Amino acid sequence: MARYTDAVCKLCRREGQKLFLKGDRCLSPKCAVDRRPFAPGDHGRRNAMRRKVSDYGMQLREKQKARRMYGVMERQFRRYFEEASRQKGLTGATLLGLLESRLDNVVYRLGFADSRSQARQLVRHGHFLVNGTKTDIPSFLVSTGDVITVRERSRSTTYFKERSQVASSGNLTSWLSMDTASMSGSVLNEPTREEIVVPLNEQLIVEYYSR
Ligand code: SF4
Repeated sequence: MARYTDAVCKLCRREGQKLFLKGDRCLSPKCAVDRRPFAPGDHGRRNAMRRKVSDYGMQLREKQKARRMYGVMERQFRRYFEEASRQKGLTGATLLGLLESRLDNVVYRLGFADSRSQARQLVRHGHFLVNGTKTDIPSFLVSTGDVITVRERSRSTTYFKERSQVASSGNLTSWLSMDTASMSGSVLNEPTREEIVVPLNEQLIVEYYSR
């Protein structure tokens, strides 16, 4: 499966804001957005000063930002949008709900990883069970009542032993609950827009795909 392999800090610099793709480093003085607050490339600094962004440009940037935050490639992102359009309710909010319900995002929210890309790798390596079944597909969509657990074998690894001290401390939101003792999290409800804390204007994404 295709995935982005270049330096991820470039993505934040391109969007002009922190997308928190690298865990602790994002909160440190080493963050590239703080050190070089302009787009990457030869003309990044100059363009930042004189650029006027069109409506289309803003819609495109918002879509790219969402894609990059959740680590989803273009074709898959469009599929999420099409699925959201088919469902009842506000398309933008439904789209964000689908992205939030991805297993890699849930693992990140539960505090088992510092970033979504790290969570994605952990899922791929088969460290998690969903309702008792090994699930190694990062795009797996969780539903209300699902229980996500660290596999018995994985719990004894140094990583998860250390993780159990910090799990659920950072990104947990109200639609998830976490039991640190059993290293498991539960989905309490489908995430509502208010429960999805991301700096995105989903309406711009809807407009982008509705052109
Ligand atoms: Fe983005 Fe984090 Fe890199 Fe800063 S350190 S530019 S927030 S990925």
